[in-house]
Amino acid sequence: MVLQAFQVRLYPNATQKQLIHMTFGSTRFVWNQMLNMLIERYRNNPKCGFLSTYDRDALLPALKREYPWLKLVDSTALQRVNRDLTDAYKRFFDKTLSNRFPRFKSKRNNHRSYTSKLVGKNIEVLDQHHLKLPKLGKVYFRAGRILNGKIHTVTVSINPQGQYSATILLECDDPIPLPLTHQKVGLDLGLKQLITLSNGVSVPLTRYDRKLARRLRRWERKLARRLRNAKQAMAEDRHKKVLNPRTELWQFPRYQQARKTVAKIKRQIAARRLDNLQKLTTQLVREYDVLVVEKLSVKNLMKNHRLARSIANAAWGTLVRLLTYKFEWAGKQLIVVNPKSTSRICHVCQQKNTDFDGLSTHEWLAVRDWQCPNCQTTLDRDINAALNIKQRGLALVD
Ligand SMILES: [Zn+2]
Repeated sequence: MVLQAFQVRLYPNATQKQLIHMTFGSTRFVWNQMLNMLIERYRNNPKCGFLSTYDRDALLPALKREYPWLKLVDSTALQRVNRDLTDAYKRFFDKTLSNRFPRFKSKRNNHRSYTSKLVGKNIEVLDQHHLKLPKLGKVYFRAGRILNGKIHTVTVSINPQGQYSATILLECDDPIPLPLTHQKVGLDLGLKQLITLSNGVSVPLTRYDRKLARRLRRWERKLARRLRNAKQAMAEDRHKKVLNPRTELWQFPRYQQARKTVAKIKRQIAARRLDNLQKLTTQLVREYDVLVVEKLSVKNLMKNHRLARSIANAAWGTLVRLLTYKFEWAGKQLIVVNPKSTSRICHVCQQKNTDFDGLSTHEWLAVRDWQCPNCQTTLDRDINAALNIKQRGLALVD
């Protein structure tokens, strides 16, 4: 059994919307109350020990008696807050991570969510358009696919544009391994060609979002201008001592509209990129049994500002992440190798070409073909690198 997350758009009615917002408020309230309690307890007696999720769940009924409106919202969502708080503490104390101490949650956060857990029959997929959720009842939803499997949790959230969605964690059957093709291949990641395979196949890096990127830049400029204007207006209100001075950004609808549009375009760009990479990686896992890729060091490359944009666009990190889990699921093999000098070593005679040592990164990237000074083979830069990557990977397993 594996857990898979599916996101669906929710279309709650007015009453349900109200209840969803109340649940956001209640979960935030419980988080802040519990966090405050833990801090106070520690302050009063540092030796008193941490109150576990279970112990804090036992405090919820008392809290509900004190604040009866907490009874109106889903109780599993409140329990989930306790668990999340414990996790936040764990991350803080984990030396391998550098997480900050859990913070109080503000009302002003634009991204809000809560998670309900399946208990008995509180959550159900009634049909392909209706979901039963705790306290909310029957909620209309739209999904891109049929939901099959046992539900674990449902996270209800609202994005900055005011759209509701539910992320449903489903228990699914183990994926069936794909049929074997006995094909082994090395993969080189690039800027002009997003990927080049050792067999010569390449996929260009298409700027499929150029139009959207232009739109984004335009709206980002608007956003900056409207923010500036809003701040100016607030300062003027203060200065002129008007009756009801505007002090918060939500009082500027034009600024808010620009903020929502920017968020929307960013989401569209991200969705398109992910969709493209999903299709590409699905094709790769179908066609090859063994795939060798280079270990990424995007950090180093990001230092070069000229390249930063292209690299982000190419989304190598996402590509490798998708390949990792798809190969795992299909029962196929993904090998990661150190890419050091793979584009400068001749794959035929293994001799390293030092002709390019003096070139700048930009000049070096412009080199497409080169001839090996040792064995005179003419090499395509990317295919040669992919072949070296393949050889390195296969040497690790054979
Ligand atoms: Zn050679």
